[in-house]
Amino acid sequence: APGKGKTTISPKKATAQRAKPKDSNAAHTFDIHAAIQEHFGFSQFKGRQIEAINSLLNGNDTFVIMPTGGGKSLCYQLPAMILEGCAIVVSPLIALMKNQVDLVRGYSEKDNVAHFLNSSLNKAQIREVKEDLLAGKTKLLYVAPETLTKQENLDFFSDLKISFFAVDEAHCISEWGHDFRPEYRRLREMMEIINPDIPMIALTATATPKVQSDIVKNLGLREPEILVSSFNRTNLYYEIQPKIKKEQTVKSIVRFITQSKGKSGIIYTLNRKTTEELAELLVANNIKAVAYHAGLDAKLRADRQDQFLNEDVQVIVATIAFGMGIDKPDIRFVIHFNIPKSIENYYQETGRAGRDGLEGKCILYYSHKDVAKLEHLMRDKPLSEREVGAQLINETVAYAESAVCRRKILLHYFGEVWDTANCGNCDNCLNTKEKVEAKEEAVKVMKAVTALDERFPAEYVINVLTGKLTPQITMFRHESLPVFGTGKDRDEHFWNSLIRQLLLENFIRKDIEEYGLLKMAPDGEKFLKKPASFPIVLNNLFEDANEDDDETEKGGGGAAATDDRLFEMLKELRQKEAKKKSLPPF
Ligand code: ADP
Ligand code: MG
Repeated sequence: APGKGKTTISPKKATAQRAKPKDSNAAHTFDIHAAIQEHFGFSQFKGRQIEAINSLLNGNDTFVIMPTGGGKSLCYQLPAMILEGCAIVVSPLIALMKNQVDLVRGYSEKDNVAHFLNSSLNKAQIREVKEDLLAGKTKLLYVAPETLTKQENLDFFSDLKISFFAVDEAHCISEWGHDFRPEYRRLREMMEIINPDIPMIALTATATPKVQSDIVKNLGLREPEILVSSFNRTNLYYEIQPKIKKEQTVKSIVRFITQSKGKSGIIYTLNRKTTEELAELLVANNIKAVAYHAGLDAKLRADRQDQFLNEDVQVIVATIAFGMGIDKPDIRFVIHFNIPKSIENYYQETGRAGRDGLEGKCILYYSHKDVAKLEHLMRDKPLSEREVGAQLINETVAYAESAVCRRKILLHYFGEVWDTANCGNCDNCLNTKEKVEAKEEAVKVMKAVTALDERFPAEYVINVLTGKLTPQITMFRHESLPVFGTGKDRDEHFWNSLIRQLLLENFIRKDIEEYGLLKMAPDGEKFLKKPASFPIVLNNLFEDANEDDDETEKGGGGAAATDDRLFEMLKELRQKEAKKKSLPPF
């Protein structure tokens, strides 16, 4: 039967046959308040830690979604100390594991209470760890996902008394997360082989509904207790600046940092070369800065990270290689020199500012050219990956160009409703722009979406509204639709803004699974029956945001690339539909 023995079974099958690990009505009798004092010296729990810990101690599969700095580690570290056996914690980065193990050891008198097993250990060290495990001295074992897949380890773990499995940074399992690791996809299968009957806790700071459902599905969580905390970071200030000339941008950054005397910050850039160039420019302007990227050797990287943590340097100019698991509470600013590749990345990276709850300024320099660069980077990826990537980028662009409260957009992205009219801590709320009535135009958009059978993405709907005779429109004969050309009097920028705001108000929705096709939502249907006032804010600040850095990319501009991509997507969709419904082939 599946689930037993050393046979390989598919994760899907395993999920279907999995029953809850234990009767959830059986409440445990541990005194967790005494335990947090005893093991960690904390006087109280933070956020939803208590619920997560109780759920796990009761033997339930548990899913913890808390923003960075929320205190996720304790949700498994405390139960690990209390329960019999050793907890196996999967963690994606060797540096993170070492850091966590050092922290746990710091709380305990015994070093062997926590260990890690990964490719950084030699044979003798591995033997020592395994001896401690067999002797029952170790309560927490951090492993890399690859460690679990080795046959010799599988055999070893199968004979070990394990209290539970924890999967940290669980979003790594999803392509829709900001850090996809294919090895995470095999975890369920491995855990099934080691021991199918023990509970699992998954933890992530990624809150998009899509990633959440991927995690539950791929880890095969059984009726998990899901604990979500709010993602609002009230102390973070969000601002977007147009990036027009490189020189001007650098000057503006230098001015900002010089004014932030004695305050630490991170500058994120898209590529390695830029980290070095920018760090040099800052140094030339009397700012203590170093570059950090994955191309530097490990020793140098560790040194520079320490320099930043110890405040020997004020600024670290880095690629996305820097930051995961960095616990520096008083980072005062995070600057994005290039647009990040998703809102999720942006949220995680800006989230490193102000972890102590005090000031944190997040400034993004935005140019259309950077968007084209990101798209260019994806050119050799398979179509499905490009689609995901393109959609994530589009959402980030929408965020950057929007005149709506930044917080509202970020929280909406994470499925959270933010109803406060003015957050008072983002550029758009501090410099409110005039609103224009867009009732009639809102009706036009939704009529177009409906007339197109909810089968086309925003770019296409806009082409129909503005009456563009693109080859696709001609092919589908959409120029004969009554809505065709009804929005000629407004430009693309206007329609994009309006569509984004209709999405934010949940009048329409974007089908993420299906190429970002626009669909009607119930509130939109209601609006169509009885249209009401729909004031929108427009932002023209970014129309010229075209950084001239004389770096020309090969293979044409962004606009052409976008058209090609749209065409490919439509083609594939058409083929898929044709298969389903016997429509004429594309
Ligand atoms: P996350 O993994 O959610 O980003 P961590 O687990 O790294 O967060 O915790 C962030 C910080 O909060 C750490 O410095 C940790 O020691 C601290 N912390 C966690 N729980 C508590 C608590 N109950 N009381 C005080 N500090 C806590
Ligand atoms: Mg963590």
